[in-house]
Amino acid sequence: MACLEKIYSVSALVGTGQCNANCSFCAGTYLRLQKLDQSQYDRSLESAIKLSARYGGWSLSLTSSGEPTCEPEAVTRALEVYNKCCSHGAYFPSVVLFTNGILCGDSSFCEKYFPLWRKLGLTSIAVSIHEETEILQAQAYGISNYPSFAEIFSNIQKHGLGVRCTLLLRKSGIDSTPTYVSAVHKLLELGINNITSWTVGNPDGTRNQYSISRMGLLGIRWWLYRNAKLCHGHAWGGGVYDYQNSILRLTSYVTKHKGNNLKTSIQDIAPLIGHTPLLAIDYVFNGIEGTICAKYEF
Ligand code: SF4
Repeated sequence: MACLEKIYSVSALVGTGQCNANCSFCAGTYLRLQKLDQSQYDRSLESAIKLSARYGGWSLSLTSSGEPTCEPEAVTRALEVYNKCCSHGAYFPSVVLFTNGILCGDSSFCEKYFPLWRKLGLTSIAVSIHEETEILQAQAYGISNYPSFAEIFSNIQKHGLGVRCTLLLRKSGIDSTPTYVSAVHKLLELGINNITSWTVGNPDGTRNQYSISRMGLLGIRWWLYRNAKLCHGHAWGGGVYDYQNSILRLTSYVTKHKGNNLKTSIQDIAPLIGHTPLLAIDYVFNGIEGTICAKYEF
């Protein structure tokens, strides 16, 4: 008999996809919504959170097809839904907002929203890093200036939120062992002890012209194998490593799915969460790990 065993996490898109950057490699437009039925969204998010909590879920990620901080009221509303779930017993120890970090350099923005978001249950903010310096980071984001990394991290920590970094692997950016190691060391020096990396690619999981080369990725894997301690692997590829008492995570999560299993599982699980604007849930179904993404047809 088909059996849903675990839903690890829920990743929700918030807002309609506005953004304050102009990345040449942006894949977000694919997921942008023409219009959002807010009450249906709230209901779907609530049922996904409650379902995940019932099946052992521990993590809620708030992201966007653009930049979530450009629509702060949408972030607040999603956190209010989570807060309501919490009051019904559906608590997640990890609630993370993913951001390009641009508005986190604005202390008045941080003062206005971070205390509220923390009160509603946000635990940490994950800043996407494409380059080792602010000048190159601005170029990657297609903007004239990018705030200082140190200031961004300080603005987040000042409000009692944790800081994580997503170190993106991209051709002509962080695309080799030396650039990866150098960026990791820079972030460690800035006090970041939780760094996740994945390859930039198409939303459907395929590689594109911006993806790091297979040799580049292999080099990074080899460096991690030689220099860090593997804590555990991911069924979908990659793993979590301990490096100098910090967490380095390399994942193929975004670019690798088990197609056949996914299709079967989608048919079985989708009715449980409805046709939602959620990005993804990670689950174990009949002993098989998988991910449902909102833009898959089901
Ligand atoms: S910050 Fe993200 S959503 Fe915005 S343009 Fe860059 S890749 Fe696209």
